[in-house]
Amino acid sequence: MQVPLLDLKEQYRSMKDEILQEISGLCDSQMFILGQKVETFESEIAEYCATDYACGVSSGSDALIIALMNEGIGHGDEVITTPFTFFATVGAIVRVGATPVFVDIEPDTFNIDPKLIEAEITPKTKAIMPVHLYGQCADMGAINVIAEKHGLIVVEDACQAIGAEYKGNRAGSISDYGCFSFFPSKNLGAFGDGGIVTTNSAGKCEKLKIFRNHGMFPKYYHKYIGGNFRLDALQAAVLSIKLRKLDSWSEARQHNAAEYRELFAKSAINGQVTLPVVADYTTRHIYNQFCILVADGKRDELRQGLNDAGIGCDIYYPVPLHLQECFSDMGLKVGDFPVSEKVADEILAIPIFPESTSEQREYVVKMIEKILCS
Ligand SMILES: *Cc1c(COP(=O)(O)O)cnc(C)c1O
Repeated sequence: MQVPLLDLKEQYRSMKDEILQEISGLCDSQMFILGQKVETFESEIAEYCATDYACGVSSGSDALIIALMNEGIGHGDEVITTPFTFFATVGAIVRVGATPVFVDIEPDTFNIDPKLIEAEITPKTKAIMPVHLYGQCADMGAINVIAEKHGLIVVEDACQAIGAEYKGNRAGSISDYGCFSFFPSKNLGAFGDGGIVTTNSAGKCEKLKIFRNHGMFPKYYHKYIGGNFRLDALQAAVLSIKLRKLDSWSEARQHNAAEYRELFAKSAINGQVTLPVVADYTTRHIYNQFCILVADGKRDELRQGLNDAGIGCDIYYPVPLHLQECFSDMGLKVGDFPVSEKVADEILAIPIFPESTSEQREYVVKMIEKILCS
């Protein structure tokens, strides 16, 4: 049996005619940049994320950059974030000229540990950038209390968490800015790159829309130094169609996660594998990934064994950001963020995509049992 980590072909087949018709209409119109399709999608996403406004942008990475630019965050400023995330979170901070300040993660949720944030706040701190890793929100209540006390902006990196909820509040609606990615492997994926920034502030959204178009307003008068961070009309049109199915896909992921939990409980794997923990404040986990922890240094052996058995699995992420070569001038070393380092050594994502079958999950757990228990 083959079990890919992710297979989007079935999803595409289920909506191919509708999507191709939409693309064909756009090609006939030859109107590719911003326009009605983007505006429509922006209001749909704002509604989905329970925010008042949204600004479509070119990628999740650019969503993070433009949110920081919108606040004038740059040289001499510090932004607090987690070292256990995809590179783009920290890349955005550095790209605007600011300095990332890392805070270690919670061992169970893998999200930034709010208890450790205050000790890192200095007069230079301007923002906190929590990441909702794998589809579960960070502890936003605790983070917002700290931000309010110190007058800091909060930018949610919600790239993996569209539709996730913290105490009934949607990701992207729990801070100043929510940044989303429509990279094809996210729960809502485009046919290429795309992203969006959500906010409840009319003023912030207006400014974002100027920034994404070279800081230009009105035409050929440049108010700010922005960039080309525009969302394509083609991507917006595809995403509008796919958005209608997003809840059913996220529910299928939740169903698949529940099935894994039953299968692991019935297996002999006991203790060697830790399943994803759902925090008590999490009212909706959207399982962009289902990541297990593999104890006793057996993660790499398990990964190889699963690959040999035709099962896709991957490590998100093998090297915490403070240990990346490109940040070596920050002078950080092994041992500085022990929880992130331990999780990076033990984490493994196994297939959870909506269209995967119960038979495939049974096979995955059976093979894990075989590799770890024999
Ligand atoms: C995917 C992702 C991004 C970047 O999104 P792109 O659209 O690929 O630029 C940023 N942060 C996190 C946590 C992500 O998972």
